[in-house]
Amino acid sequence: MPSSSDSANNRPRAKVTAMTTEQYVEGVLGGDRTIIGRAITLVESNALSHQQQAQEVLRQLLPHAGKSIRVGITGVPGAGKSTLIEALGCRLTERGHKVAVMAVDPSSSLTRGSILGDKTRMERLSQDTNAFIRPSPSGGTLGGVTRKSREIIIVFEAAGYDVMLVETVGVGQSEIAVRSLVDFFLLVLIAGAGDELQGIKRGVFELADAVLVNKADGANVRSAKVSREEYERALHYLQPATRGWRTGAFTASATTGDGIEELWRVIEHFRDMTTANGEFPRRRQEQLKDWLHSMVRERLRETFYGNDAVKSVLSNIEQEVMKGSLPVTQAAWQLLETFEDDVKQNWRKKQ
Ligand code: GDP
Repeated sequence: MPSSSDSANNRPRAKVTAMTTEQYVEGVLGGDRTIIGRAITLVESNALSHQQQAQEVLRQLLPHAGKSIRVGITGVPGAGKSTLIEALGCRLTERGHKVAVMAVDPSSSLTRGSILGDKTRMERLSQDTNAFIRPSPSGGTLGGVTRKSREIIIVFEAAGYDVMLVETVGVGQSEIAVRSLVDFFLLVLIAGAGDELQGIKRGVFELADAVLVNKADGANVRSAKVSREEYERALHYLQPATRGWRTGAFTASATTGDGIEELWRVIEHFRDMTTANGEFPRRRQEQLKDWLHSMVRERLRETFYGNDAVKSVLSNIEQEVMKGSLPVTQAAWQLLETFEDDVKQNWRKKQ
């Protein structure tokens, strides 16, 4: 084992030397895995200086991004998402694709260590030099994780990755967040277990571009086929997630590989069809617009609640509202006026 004088002296390890923006950009564009990893760490950092450099790196990478198919994959733990990603990912890299696997899991910062995007669960793919697996950024909030994930996609695409597989658990709001990041959204289910058992809410079906009944192997084949037909019928009555596309139900076995090829053909067909009818670029533009607005909202909220003048009156106003002595609308106006006056005053001082 190489021993460094640092560890021999029990001193903390020397910090990794900082890289210039050009080094990041060149490294990412050249597909250098170490630099891609460091660029993602930079994007994920909450330190202001890192964020500023990350934004400059992203600005320079942006013209090289966008040329991938982004696939979201949801389903409860145990549905077989990682097994499926491994099976699909390996097939795609064999065919010359570069595959990036990411996870969106807002709880990962609480539980320290995500159950998603874990390399040990995708053993073959994690050793594949044409695949890159990245666990969920720990952004604290779903909004934070989503923003970072969007920026990580830019890094991967600029580095030449042409398939993004974005994994999330089928609980809470994270499916909606992932839907807002991807072109195609896949819901993975298991045959036989009822929808309630699988924690599947009706709304999730309306986000999906395909429903995959996994584990269609051995004794499960028949029940998987029955489930598929039931979902197919149910989907018939729902509004499809993508205009001009009919959301269908399919069966597959992530362990035997049956149905994986067909699944990929469905995704390719989706891309071709929605590109031809304009829905693919339209959705991406909408997603960018929504991203812009959500960033503005997030920033405004932080600025508002972080404002000293607002903080000084907030608890009194809250009390009055709770007692019923101040109508809510008036209370909100008072707070907003307090904020606006303070901003104006500060602005005048700067003149
Ligand atoms: P995830 O939590 O959704 O990522 O699920 P995993 O991929 O970790 O799979 C959960 C369990 O189901 C593991 O024991 C897998 O080996 C098993 N599994 C996954 N896909 C299949 C499949 O297609 N058929 C069978 N029989 N088992 C599967």
